[in-house]
Amino acid sequence: MSWTWSGIVDRVPTGRGARAAAGGIALALVVAGCAGVDPSATGSPGDLVTVVASTTILGSVAGQVAACGGGEVTTLMPVGADPHDYSPSSADVAAMVESDLVIVNGLGLEEGLTSALATAREDGATVLEVGPALDPQPFGGSSDSLDPHVWMDVSRMARAATLIGDELVEVTGDAAFGDCGRRTAEALSETDEEVRAVLEGVPADSRTLVTDHDAFGYFSRAYDYTVAGVVIPGGSTLAQPSSSELAALAETVRTAGVKAIFANTANPTALIEALARESGQQVAVVELYVGSLGPAGSGADTYQGMMLTNAKLIADALVG
Ligand SMILES: [Zn+2]
Repeated sequence: MSWTWSGIVDRVPTGRGARAAAGGIALALVVAGCAGVDPSATGSPGDLVTVVASTTILGSVAGQVAACGGGEVTTLMPVGADPHDYSPSSADVAAMVESDLVIVNGLGLEEGLTSALATAREDGATVLEVGPALDPQPFGGSSDSLDPHVWMDVSRMARAATLIGDELVEVTGDAAFGDCGRRTAEALSETDEEVRAVLEGVPADSRTLVTDHDAFGYFSRAYDYTVAGVVIPGGSTLAQPSSSELAALAETVRTAGVKAIFANTANPTALIEALARESGQQVAVVELYVGSLGPAGSGADTYQGMMLTNAKLIADALVG
């Protein structure tokens, strides 16, 4: 499954954009693996700058950079997919190989994509891993492995936009993409300030997060919050807490006076509901957009909208 950023090419006013639209349809068909479509008949790759991004979050940021310069982004993961748990199809590998640039988060986020990425690289794909270039930090506690959730700090994604623009200059030779990257970075820096302003509305002693998995390390450092506990151990969404871990977390929820537990739209909420019940407290369960953008119309259907929506949901839950 994959989908294309329809609408992005609509904002490109040039003739190149019109060609991008036609080529984008062909690429989307190839990615979807429709029978009867000859991949060799997808137009002239020399004209069209095509980018494949792994997550919807990277698809949104890269989409803004690429659209500004007359390119188009296809995203492998559909809205609502958990990036820790996505298995690519052979059509996904073909899309990566056909594209001018593949953008992934890296740092172990896309666990299911590892072998497909290796195959795509062997077949000539150019891959940009943004996470390792964004000052990655270890998870909290005793872990020494690096935390992949860099996008939860908007200022890091502003730097990612610049990196993506510069990489597109490298692969296409078109300097316009460098300006596009910087322009997108400026827009994201403004979003960072808006997110910060919303989150600063929460009194310092109420800035306590309990979340479904350990995805808020960069967020808590960037916006001055504290993560009091996570339900799923190990940094991804792929483990299960033991009953004693869940009981200890319920105790934390009780003693720390936690008002809300934050779930993740890309993951089932059953464990969170169980924790809320076990705490015996009046505690709200609030779903945030963590591993994926929201659907069209949700207000979280762009990266900027996603992070602003999260900030407002957190502030409402902790102040109310
Ligand atoms: Zn995660």
